[in-house]
Amino acid sequence: MNMETIVSLCKRRGLIFQSSEIYGGTGSCWDYGPPGVELKNNIKRVWWRDTVQLRTDMVGLDASILMHPLVWKASGHLDHFTDPMVDCRVCKRRFRADKLDDSPWVHYCPATKGNKFEVPAGEPCTHCGARRTLCPACGKGELTEPRQFNLMFKTFMGPVEEEAAVTYLRPETAQGIFVNFDNVLQSMRLKLPFGIAQIGKSFRNEITPGNFIFRTREFEQMEIEYFVNPADTIGGRPADEVWHERWIEERLAWYRRYGLRAENLRLREHEKDELAHYAKRTADIEYHFPIGWSELEGIANRTDYDLKQHAQWSGKSLTYFDEERKTHVVPYVIEPSAGADRSLLAFLVDAYAEEEVRGEKRVVLRFHRELAPTKIAVLPLLKKRGEIVETAHAIRGALARRWMTVYDDTAAIGRLYRRQDEVGTPYCVTVDVQTVGDPDKGEAGDRKVTIRDRDSMEQVRVPIDTLESVLGRLLAGEPWERVAGRA
Ligand code: ATP
Repeated sequence: MNMETIVSLCKRRGLIFQSSEIYGGTGSCWDYGPPGVELKNNIKRVWWRDTVQLRTDMVGLDASILMHPLVWKASGHLDHFTDPMVDCRVCKRRFRADKLDDSPWVHYCPATKGNKFEVPAGEPCTHCGARRTLCPACGKGELTEPRQFNLMFKTFMGPVEEEAAVTYLRPETAQGIFVNFDNVLQSMRLKLPFGIAQIGKSFRNEITPGNFIFRTREFEQMEIEYFVNPADTIGGRPADEVWHERWIEERLAWYRRYGLRAENLRLREHEKDELAHYAKRTADIEYHFPIGWSELEGIANRTDYDLKQHAQWSGKSLTYFDEERKTHVVPYVIEPSAGADRSLLAFLVDAYAEEEVRGEKRVVLRFHRELAPTKIAVLPLLKKRGEIVETAHAIRGALARRWMTVYDDTAAIGRLYRRQDEVGTPYCVTVDVQTVGDPDKGEAGDRKVTIRDRDSMEQVRVPIDTLESVLGRLLAGEPWERVAGRA
């Protein structure tokens, strides 16, 4: 499966649109349509529930995007948050020097009279054996030497556009947590180890955004800063190292819990020369995206670097009083940093399936029920029959109090089912003639409706009175066979 398939499904079914599309789009920003915003909210909601709500050692925070400019000096972003950039001398396009071989390249092959080919990423030409040396986009231009380019978006705070008013859109949410460390510690009376979680927008002026929502200039992060006493040990080992491992396990398990297949996930340790100078260890959770194995989440041991830097630049003490040892310590921090949009892409890719049903292609998104944008679609079998339509609306109204439920009567039932399959709705409820009966013929309805299961496409008829409890069991994760068998 390739990225185009996902992009076109997302557009067709209203999940994701290109930002400002009627103006030709921006190429680096995307908008989430009606089912898309539900999906993203669900991802953020389960992340928050699992990381904050269900744990006794975590609290939440929502810091502002614009911060004091010194934050970015202290954090090192002003001086070091750069990527190496090269320019093509012919077409003038710009590229990240370290990602040049991550996409297909254009090649005018001397072995075939200069014919133009698109060669797969990182591979040599199969005709002449040459590897890419020129511009990957035009295939003609020499590339300049790499220059460092700062990825932060600059802006002005207040009405005067002068140097003193310069500030930046945050390139990560983490710094909002570090600068609030003492506020949260004191107000919540926390004891180490504890963590602060935050979900929010970040901005990076990426040199080469692309691959749909994988790399954009505006995106959402779901970040945890987990503070550990560096003097503590667990089982004879430094507590920060043990907690780092625990978080790696926890985050891998989280992706698997919501549907990512184990074979599409792997851990990649950063090599010593790749580590940020303050990091003791960093491991990336990688996912097998259609563009290849790429980072989904980074989990770093940032030591005491950030708190020390902010203490130094702000002049405020950012320490923790260790009651046991009667001394002030600067906690170490473990940072599991995930992207909400990148996770969404991974969940989409993993959920996508094409299958043949009675000679026809069926596209289905097998989302975990907690992530599915819509949980239930209520569909009338005949929209000309008033009682059927009224009953369907009444059912939708009742179910919508608990779950995202839609009503749709804009096509024949087969097509309505396909449409719901394509956005991953786990259950459809159909109201038919039998449900309401036929007063003209003196036939009473049985007040039963059909539930259809997205994955097996099996159906079961249940009384309207028990519908909510049956759906409640299904949406709580009870297997279809068991619920349908007893319904
Ligand atoms: P990359 O090497 O892909 O640029 P990074 O190592 O700079 O990523 P981090 O700073 O570790 O990324 O950010 C943490 C997470 O935030 C990433 O794992 C990813 O999920 C998300 N993320 C970072 N940059 C982007 C972006 N430009 N677009 C979408 N998500 C992003």
